[in-house]
Amino acid sequence: MIFVAGSQRLLGFHCSAAGGLANAIRRGAKLGCTAIQLFTKNNNRWLGPPLTLKEIDAFRTAWAASPIRCIMSHVGYLVNLASTDPAITEHSMESMRMELQNAQALDIPYVVVHPGAHKGEGEAMAIRRVAERLNILLEETVGDQLVIAVEGTAGQGSSLGHRFEHLRDILAGVRYGDRVGVCLDTAHLFAAGYDLRSASAYRSTWEAFDRIVGRAALRTMHLNDTKRELGSRVDRHEHIGKGAIGLSGFRLLMRDLSLRAVPMVMETPKGKTDAVDRRNLTILQSLVK
Ligand SMILES: [Zn+2]
Ligand SMILES: [Zn+2]
Repeated sequence: MIFVAGSQRLLGFHCSAAGGLANAIRRGAKLGCTAIQLFTKNNNRWLGPPLTLKEIDAFRTAWAASPIRCIMSHVGYLVNLASTDPAITEHSMESMRMELQNAQALDIPYVVVHPGAHKGEGEAMAIRRVAERLNILLEETVGDQLVIAVEGTAGQGSSLGHRFEHLRDILAGVRYGDRVGVCLDTAHLFAAGYDLRSASAYRSTWEAFDRIVGRAALRTMHLNDTKRELGSRVDRHEHIGKGAIGLSGFRLLMRDLSLRAVPMVMETPKGKTDAVDRRNLTILQSLVK
């Protein structure tokens, strides 16, 4: 088979699961996605009601009938695997267990999680705690196929994960290396000071990632433009091409053959209708050519 650049990219959006998890698939399919991301439980709660067999079945049936090839779930926002607070740690671990169980039940291969925040306790110890807790979760789910993808962050507050070295050190502390990887978000990269706009900046960002973390660890990506300037450490997603990264950076990404096998979803602002999503997807697809 002749490979045509870009034609097989798995590309789509974070889709709302309002009204039932299967609706995320329906929304994604309607938009023309080949990859989607969703929350498998309320993203502002520690726990949700356990999934029913009916929900699981509806999800799998909708997926099988759709053009979507890859699904990633995003862990809720309360989880902090770097916490020193015993109650928050316990809640975070219970929440993660539910996230992993849900993903396993739904056959979702990638679970994206932010590494957490050290809240002034220092980065090195916090990174060790994150790795230890991931080890516990991986140990408990030995035999599961899913991969936990630790997301690089913008570095707001005391968030870990805004340096490639953080991601490297977390992965280095994990014993089940093939079950842990990295998710890179373009808006977060840019906020963290990793430029993507010019060909030379783009190249040096990826050279740094390959040298420090290693490309094999990159499992998924989030494609978002950003409202804020390079190195701002502030996370404000913007429509593709309308922000500080601009079309030049996304053109380089979409034409980068080394990324063609990496599933990519946008977490761009949603509008009242599908129109903004459609525009973002059309723009990305047009940049491949
Ligand atoms: Zn995220
Ligand atoms: Zn993201």
